[in-house]
Amino acid sequence: MRWRQGRRSTNIEDLRGKKGRRRTVRRGAGGGAKLGGGVGIIVLLIGLFLGVDLSGLVGGGGGQVGIPQMQYPGDSVSGQGPAIRNDDEAANFIATVLADTEDVWNKLFRHAGKQYQEPRLTLFSDGVSSACGFTSSAAGPFYCPGDDNVYIDLSFFRQLQGMGAAGDFAQAYVIAHEIGHHVQNQLGVSMAVQRQRRQLPKAQGNALSVATELQADCYAGVWAHHAHKDRQVLEPGDLEEGMNAAAKIGDDALMANAGRRVHPDNFTHGTSQQRQQWLLRGLETGDANACNTFGNN
Ligand SMILES: [Zn+2]
Repeated sequence: MRWRQGRRSTNIEDLRGKKGRRRTVRRGAGGGAKLGGGVGIIVLLIGLFLGVDLSGLVGGGGGQVGIPQMQYPGDSVSGQGPAIRNDDEAANFIATVLADTEDVWNKLFRHAGKQYQEPRLTLFSDGVSSACGFTSSAAGPFYCPGDDNVYIDLSFFRQLQGMGAAGDFAQAYVIAHEIGHHVQNQLGVSMAVQRQRRQLPKAQGNALSVATELQADCYAGVWAHHAHKDRQVLEPGDLEEGMNAAAKIGDDALMANAGRRVHPDNFTHGTSQQRQQWLLRGLETGDANACNTFGNN
């Protein structure tokens, strides 16, 4: 990927080395979607690659108010935590991909007559407390809809590499997938899915989870499409890296590698083939409307 010239997002904070500490900043209230009046609501914590769907309790948060920002080229990255140092390659990469997702989704929402509220991203190590409760690094990167925040322990990328999914675009796909869950949250998909899942038997609930995850894959592809169209970020081999990563983290591949019986009823993220198919759909079309994984397919 050609990412070094890109803008760094300021919506990032670094809690690495601060075990379990949580920032106390809460998003402003007012406006936005109703999330339930004061009563805690169950939210689905969308675990990514390890097939973990955790549920946690969230206080009745108000609407989602974006934090106004002014950014200039060359701004140093400073979130709620310490600023990310220029020589911190991994963190700079994440901040750049995050900024690129902001540029793409701001544009696409604007074109659709909507306003995109940028999410935040937190780097952590070992474990982190969020509006979704305490989560260990073992659960993999995740998006918490309760605080509009993506959480990632960078050691996950070593695991990914160990699974045969190396490369910067594979990592960008992971981030863009999590951002895809934020887009779903913004569009009301997440709430609708949670409501339905509570009323469904497990196998059907899992099928709904698969559709949700595949849509996030497709949205990751939509991001890459526009990032490349607007900023030529992709290099030869990147597409293959992404497709390879999608294959390595399919439910069937993960179950087989773990020595478990491959049982489609237990799929929560989709097969390798499905994940590749939807990532590619997004990449080729660049159209979020083409990501209807909930339809008949
Ligand atoms: Zn996911």
